[in-house]
Amino acid sequence: MIQITMPLGFLGTVYREIRQALVDMGEMFGLLNQPAEITDKAEAPTLAVKGGAIRFEDVKFGYDASRPILKGVSFEVPAGRTLALVGPSGSGKSTIGRLLFRFYDVREGAVKIDGQDLRDITQHSLHQAIGVVPQDTVLFNDTVLYNIAYGRAGASREEIEAAAKAAKIHDFIISLPEGYETKVGERGLKLSGGEKQRVGIARTILKNPPILLLDEATSALDTQTERDIQDSLREMGQGRTVISIAHRLSTIADADEILVLDAGQIVERGRHDELLAKGGRYAAMWARQASDMQTGA
Ligand code: ADP
Ligand code: MG
Repeated sequence: MIQITMPLGFLGTVYREIRQALVDMGEMFGLLNQPAEITDKAEAPTLAVKGGAIRFEDVKFGYDASRPILKGVSFEVPAGRTLALVGPSGSGKSTIGRLLFRFYDVREGAVKIDGQDLRDITQHSLHQAIGVVPQDTVLFNDTVLYNIAYGRAGASREEIEAAAKAAKIHDFIISLPEGYETKVGERGLKLSGGEKQRVGIARTILKNPPILLLDEATSALDTQTERDIQDSLREMGQGRTVISIAHRLSTIADADEILVLDAGQIVERGRHDELLAKGGRYAAMWARQASDMQTGA
Protein backbone atom coordinates (compact mmCIF):
# COMPACT_ATOMS: atom_id res chain seq x y z
CA MET A 1 0.00 0.00 0.00
CA ILE A 2 2.59 2.56 1.11
CA GLN A 3 4.97 2.39 -1.87
CA ILE A 4 5.65 6.06 -1.23
CA THR A 5 8.23 5.34 1.48
CA MET A 6 10.92 4.60 -1.05
CA PRO A 7 10.44 7.47 -3.53
CA LEU A 8 10.33 9.90 -0.59
CA GLY A 9 13.94 9.10 0.22
CA PHE A 10 15.03 10.00 -3.28
CA LEU A 11 13.05 13.17 -3.21
CA GLY A 12 14.78 14.49 -0.14
CA THR A 13 16.32 17.48 -1.85
CA VAL A 14 13.31 18.50 -3.88
CA TYR A 15 11.31 21.54 -2.84
CA ARG A 16 8.90 20.96 -0.04
CA GLU A 17 5.77 21.90 -1.92
CA ILE A 18 6.60 19.72 -4.87
CA ARG A 19 7.36 16.88 -2.52
CA GLN A 20 4.06 17.47 -0.79
CA ALA A 21 2.32 17.28 -4.15
CA LEU A 22 4.12 14.06 -4.92
CA VAL A 23 3.30 12.63 -1.53
CA ASP A 24 -0.33 13.49 -2.03
CA MET A 25 -0.35 12.07 -5.51
CA GLY A 26 1.57 9.02 -4.39
CA GLU A 27 -0.96 8.41 -1.69
CA MET A 28 -3.78 8.99 -4.04
CA PHE A 29 -2.76 7.17 -7.12
CA GLY A 30 -0.02 4.82 -6.06
CA LEU A 31 2.65 6.12 -8.36
CA LEU A 32 4.33 3.20 -9.99
CA ASN A 33 7.06 4.99 -11.81
CA GLN A 34 8.54 8.43 -12.15
CA PRO A 35 6.43 10.86 -14.13
CA ALA A 36 7.46 11.32 -17.75
CA GLU A 37 9.78 14.13 -18.72
CA ILE A 38 7.67 17.12 -17.91
CA THR A 39 9.47 20.43 -17.84
CA ASP A 40 8.47 24.05 -17.61
CA LYS A 41 8.76 26.13 -20.75
CA ALA A 42 11.43 28.79 -20.64
CA GLU A 43 10.05 31.87 -18.91
CA ALA A 44 6.77 30.13 -18.18
CA PRO A 45 4.51 32.35 -16.09
CA THR A 46 2.83 31.17 -12.92
CA LEU A 47 -0.79 30.10 -13.03
CA ALA A 48 -3.06 33.08 -12.48
CA VAL A 49 -6.00 31.64 -10.59
CA LYS A 50 -9.24 33.52 -11.07
CA GLY A 51 -11.78 31.06 -9.71
CA GLY A 52 -10.20 27.73 -10.56
CA ALA A 53 -12.36 26.71 -13.52
CA ILE A 54 -11.13 23.44 -15.07
CA ARG A 55 -11.50 22.46 -18.72
CA PHE A 56 -10.60 19.22 -20.45
CA GLU A 57 -10.84 19.80 -24.19
CA ASP A 58 -11.11 16.63 -26.26
CA VAL A 59 -8.28 15.07 -24.29
CA LYS A 60 -6.61 12.01 -25.77
CA PHE A 61 -3.97 10.29 -23.74
CA GLY A 62 -2.21 6.96 -23.30
CA TYR A 63 0.74 5.96 -21.15
CA ASP A 64 2.06 4.13 -24.21
CA ALA A 65 1.45 5.43 -27.69
CA SER A 66 0.10 2.04 -28.67
CA ARG A 67 -2.61 1.94 -26.04
CA PRO A 68 -5.03 4.85 -25.82
CA ILE A 69 -6.48 5.34 -22.33
CA LEU A 70 -8.52 8.55 -22.63
CA LYS A 71 -10.22 8.68 -26.00
CA GLY A 72 -11.49 12.22 -26.34
CA VAL A 73 -12.66 13.44 -22.94
CA SER A 74 -14.26 16.89 -22.68
CA PHE A 75 -15.77 18.54 -19.65
CA GLU A 76 -15.79 21.80 -17.80
CA VAL A 77 -15.99 22.41 -14.08
CA PRO A 78 -16.97 26.04 -13.53
CA ALA A 79 -15.25 27.84 -10.66
CA GLY A 80 -16.63 26.71 -7.33
CA ARG A 81 -18.52 23.72 -8.72
CA THR A 82 -18.17 20.02 -8.07
CA LEU A 83 -17.61 17.31 -10.64
CA ALA A 84 -17.81 13.64 -9.71
CA LEU A 85 -16.10 10.92 -11.70
CA VAL A 86 -17.49 7.42 -11.52
CA GLY A 87 -16.92 4.29 -13.54
CA PRO A 88 -15.41 0.85 -13.31
CA SER A 89 -11.86 0.27 -12.23
CA GLY A 90 -9.46 1.04 -15.07
CA SER A 91 -11.88 3.38 -16.83
CA GLY A 92 -9.49 6.35 -16.53
CA LYS A 93 -10.63 8.27 -13.45
CA SER A 94 -7.23 8.53 -11.79
CA THR A 95 -5.64 9.29 -15.14
CA ILE A 96 -7.79 12.43 -15.32
CA GLY A 97 -6.43 13.41 -11.90
CA ARG A 98 -2.85 12.82 -13.04
CA LEU A 99 -3.36 14.96 -16.14
CA LEU A 100 -4.82 17.75 -14.03
CA PHE A 101 -1.59 17.66 -12.04
CA ARG A 102 0.34 17.53 -15.30
CA PHE A 103 2.14 14.40 -14.30
CA TYR A 104 1.87 13.67 -17.99
CA ASP A 105 1.07 15.79 -21.01
CA VAL A 106 -1.97 15.04 -23.10
CA ARG A 107 -1.35 13.57 -26.55
CA GLU A 108 -4.13 15.60 -28.13
CA GLY A 109 -6.44 18.26 -26.82
CA ALA A 110 -5.73 20.42 -23.80
CA VAL A 111 -6.23 20.77 -20.08
CA LYS A 112 -6.78 24.32 -18.88
CA ILE A 113 -7.30 26.10 -15.59
CA ASP A 114 -8.95 29.49 -15.88
CA GLY A 115 -8.16 29.44 -19.58
CA GLN A 116 -4.44 28.71 -19.16
CA ASP A 117 -3.05 25.60 -20.79
CA LEU A 118 -1.19 23.57 -18.18
CA ARG A 119 1.76 23.23 -20.57
CA ASP A 120 2.24 27.01 -20.52
CA ILE A 121 2.52 27.62 -16.77
CA THR A 122 4.98 26.50 -14.10
CA GLN A 123 4.37 23.15 -12.48
CA HIS A 124 5.13 24.64 -9.11
CA SER A 125 2.28 27.15 -9.37
CA LEU A 126 -0.02 24.41 -10.66
CA HIS A 127 0.74 22.16 -7.72
CA GLN A 128 0.19 25.00 -5.30
CA ALA A 129 -3.29 25.54 -6.68
CA ILE A 130 -4.47 21.98 -6.16
CA GLY A 131 -5.12 20.25 -2.87
CA VAL A 132 -5.40 16.51 -2.76
CA VAL A 133 -7.19 14.56 -0.10
CA PRO A 134 -6.20 10.96 -0.61
CA GLN A 135 -8.02 8.00 0.81
CA ASP A 136 -5.04 7.01 2.91
CA THR A 137 -3.16 9.92 4.37
CA VAL A 138 0.46 9.11 5.04
CA LEU A 139 1.67 10.44 8.37
CA PHE A 140 5.27 11.32 8.94
CA ASN A 141 7.00 10.01 12.04
CA ASP A 142 6.77 13.38 13.70
CA THR A 143 4.37 15.43 15.79
CA VAL A 144 0.74 16.05 14.92
CA LEU A 145 1.69 19.69 14.60
CA TYR A 146 4.33 18.91 11.99
CA ASN A 147 1.97 16.64 10.13
CA ILE A 148 -0.63 19.38 9.75
CA ALA A 149 1.91 22.19 9.22
CA TYR A 150 3.21 20.28 6.23
CA GLY A 151 0.26 21.70 4.31
CA ARG A 152 1.89 25.11 4.12
CA ALA A 153 5.41 26.18 4.98
CA GLY A 154 5.49 29.05 7.42
CA ALA A 155 1.98 28.66 8.82
CA SER A 156 1.54 30.03 12.33
CA ARG A 157 0.43 27.97 15.29
CA GLU A 158 -2.94 29.79 15.21
CA GLU A 159 -3.46 28.93 11.57
CA ILE A 160 -2.58 25.30 12.22
CA GLU A 161 -5.05 25.06 15.08
CA ALA A 162 -7.73 26.79 13.02
CA ALA A 163 -7.24 24.21 10.29
CA ALA A 164 -7.44 21.39 12.84
CA LYS A 165 -10.66 22.86 14.20
CA ALA A 166 -12.15 23.13 10.74
CA ALA A 167 -11.21 19.50 10.13
CA LYS A 168 -12.78 18.59 13.50
CA ILE A 169 -9.63 17.01 14.82
CA HIS A 170 -8.56 19.72 17.29
CA ASP A 171 -10.50 18.36 20.27
CA PHE A 172 -9.06 14.93 19.69
CA ILE A 173 -5.53 16.35 19.45
CA ILE A 174 -5.72 18.29 22.70
CA SER A 175 -7.00 15.16 24.44
CA LEU A 176 -3.72 13.39 23.58
CA PRO A 177 -1.06 13.16 26.30
CA GLU A 178 1.20 15.67 24.60
CA GLY A 179 -1.41 17.47 22.54
CA TYR A 180 -0.04 18.88 19.31
CA GLU A 181 3.43 17.66 20.28
CA THR A 182 2.33 14.02 20.30
CA LYS A 183 4.40 11.89 17.95
CA VAL A 184 2.34 10.00 15.38
CA GLY A 185 3.06 7.72 12.46
CA GLU A 186 4.51 4.25 12.38
CA ARG A 187 6.88 4.94 15.24
CA GLY A 188 4.44 7.02 17.27
CA LEU A 189 0.82 6.95 18.22
CA LYS A 190 -1.23 4.98 15.72
CA LEU A 191 -4.22 6.95 14.53
CA SER A 192 -7.38 5.36 13.19
CA GLY A 193 -8.25 5.66 9.51
CA GLY A 194 -10.74 8.42 10.24
CA GLU A 195 -8.28 10.37 12.39
CA LYS A 196 -5.58 10.12 9.75
CA GLN A 197 -7.95 11.34 7.14
CA ARG A 198 -8.84 14.31 9.31
CA VAL A 199 -5.16 15.18 9.64
CA GLY A 200 -5.04 15.06 5.83
CA ILE A 201 -8.06 17.34 5.64
CA ALA A 202 -6.50 19.77 8.12
CA ARG A 203 -3.32 19.80 6.03
CA THR A 204 -5.31 20.64 2.93
CA ILE A 205 -7.39 23.30 4.69
CA LEU A 206 -4.13 24.91 5.77
CA LYS A 207 -2.88 24.84 2.19
CA ASN A 208 -6.13 26.55 1.17
CA PRO A 209 -6.05 25.64 -2.52
CA PRO A 210 -8.71 26.89 -4.95
CA ILE A 211 -8.97 23.42 -6.48
CA LEU A 212 -9.52 20.14 -4.69
CA LEU A 213 -9.01 16.64 -5.95
CA LEU A 214 -10.70 14.11 -3.73
CA ASP A 215 -10.27 10.42 -3.75
CA GLU A 216 -13.06 9.06 -1.72
CA ALA A 217 -12.25 6.41 0.80
CA THR A 218 -12.98 2.89 -0.28
CA SER A 219 -11.26 1.60 2.81
CA ALA A 220 -12.84 0.59 6.04
CA LEU A 221 -14.30 3.47 7.94
CA ASP A 222 -17.43 2.83 9.93
CA THR A 223 -20.58 4.43 8.60
CA GLN A 224 -20.70 7.26 11.13
CA THR A 225 -17.03 8.18 10.64
CA GLU A 226 -17.55 7.99 6.90
CA ARG A 227 -20.50 10.35 7.14
CA ASP A 228 -18.58 12.79 9.37
CA ILE A 229 -15.65 12.80 6.97
CA GLN A 230 -18.00 13.36 4.07
CA ASP A 231 -19.45 16.37 5.88
CA SER A 232 -15.96 17.76 6.42
CA LEU A 233 -15.04 17.22 2.78
CA ARG A 234 -18.23 18.88 1.64
CA GLU A 235 -17.55 21.84 3.90
CA MET A 236 -14.00 22.10 2.66
CA GLY A 237 -15.33 22.08 -0.91
CA GLN A 238 -17.38 25.21 -0.34
CA GLY A 239 -16.08 27.98 -2.59
CA ARG A 240 -13.58 25.67 -4.27
CA THR A 241 -13.62 23.81 -7.54
CA VAL A 242 -13.78 20.12 -6.76
CA ILE A 243 -13.14 16.97 -8.76
CA SER A 244 -14.17 13.97 -6.75
CA ILE A 245 -13.31 10.43 -7.72
CA ALA A 246 -16.19 8.69 -6.10
CA HIS A 247 -16.69 5.11 -5.18
CA ARG A 248 -19.79 5.44 -3.06
CA LEU A 249 -22.57 6.80 -5.16
CA SER A 250 -24.51 8.05 -2.17
CA THR A 251 -21.84 10.69 -1.55
CA ILE A 252 -21.96 12.26 -5.00
CA ALA A 253 -25.68 12.73 -5.30
CA ASP A 254 -25.24 16.47 -4.84
CA ALA A 255 -22.42 16.99 -7.38
CA ASP A 256 -23.11 19.64 -10.01
CA GLU A 257 -22.20 17.14 -12.70
CA ILE A 258 -21.43 13.45 -12.71
CA LEU A 259 -19.39 11.84 -15.47
CA VAL A 260 -19.67 8.12 -15.98
CA LEU A 261 -16.47 6.85 -17.57
CA ASP A 262 -16.00 3.56 -19.30
CA ALA A 263 -12.83 2.54 -21.12
CA GLY A 264 -11.64 6.12 -21.37
CA GLN A 265 -14.84 7.61 -22.67
CA ILE A 266 -17.65 9.53 -21.07
CA VAL A 267 -20.67 7.30 -21.55
CA GLU A 268 -23.13 9.31 -19.47
CA ARG A 269 -23.19 12.73 -17.88
CA GLY A 270 -25.63 14.75 -15.85
CA ARG A 271 -26.90 15.30 -12.38
CA HIS A 272 -27.79 12.46 -10.05
CA ASP A 273 -31.56 12.66 -10.52
CA GLU A 274 -31.26 13.10 -14.29
CA LEU A 275 -29.06 10.04 -14.56
CA LEU A 276 -31.36 7.98 -12.39
CA ALA A 277 -34.33 8.99 -14.52
CA LYS A 278 -32.42 7.97 -17.62
CA GLY A 279 -32.22 4.38 -16.42
CA GLY A 280 -28.79 3.78 -17.97
CA ARG A 281 -25.33 2.93 -16.66
CA TYR A 282 -25.42 5.20 -13.66
CA ALA A 283 -28.86 4.00 -12.62
CA ALA A 284 -27.62 0.42 -12.85
CA MET A 285 -24.54 1.23 -10.73
CA TRP A 286 -26.74 2.93 -8.20
CA ALA A 287 -29.13 -0.01 -7.99
CA ARG A 288 -26.26 -2.46 -7.65
CA GLN A 289 -24.63 -0.46 -4.88
CA ALA A 290 -27.88 -0.06 -3.01
CA SER A 291 -28.42 -3.80 -3.04
CA ASP A 292 -24.77 -4.43 -2.03
CA MET A 293 -25.31 -2.19 0.94
CA GLN A 294 -28.36 -4.12 1.98
CA THR A 295 -26.54 -7.40 1.79
CA GLY A 296 -23.54 -5.87 3.55
CA ALA A 297 -21.15 -6.47 0.66
P1 ADP B 1 -9.29 4.16 -12.68
O1 ADP B 1 -8.76 5.21 -11.79
O2 ADP B 1 -10.58 4.53 -13.34
O3 ADP B 1 -9.40 2.82 -12.01
P2 ADP B 1 -6.80 4.56 -14.14
O4 ADP B 1 -6.92 5.92 -14.68
O5 ADP B 1 -5.94 4.37 -12.95
O6 ADP B 1 -8.26 3.94 -13.90
O7 ADP B 1 -6.24 3.60 -15.26
C1 ADP B 1 -6.75 3.60 -16.59
C2 ADP B 1 -5.95 2.61 -17.40
O8 ADP B 1 -4.60 3.08 -17.51
C3 ADP B 1 -5.88 1.23 -16.80
O9 ADP B 1 -5.99 0.28 -17.85
C4 ADP B 1 -4.50 1.17 -16.21
O10 ADP B 1 -3.99 -0.13 -16.22
C5 ADP B 1 -3.71 2.06 -17.11
N1 ADP B 1 -2.59 2.69 -16.39
C6 ADP B 1 -2.68 3.41 -15.25
N2 ADP B 1 -1.47 3.89 -14.88
C7 ADP B 1 -0.60 3.44 -15.79
C8 ADP B 1 0.83 3.59 -15.99
N3 ADP B 1 1.57 4.30 -15.13
N4 ADP B 1 1.38 2.98 -17.05
C9 ADP B 1 0.66 2.27 -17.92
N5 ADP B 1 -0.70 2.10 -17.81
C10 ADP B 1 -1.31 2.67 -16.77
MG1 MG C 1 -8.16 5.04 -9.75
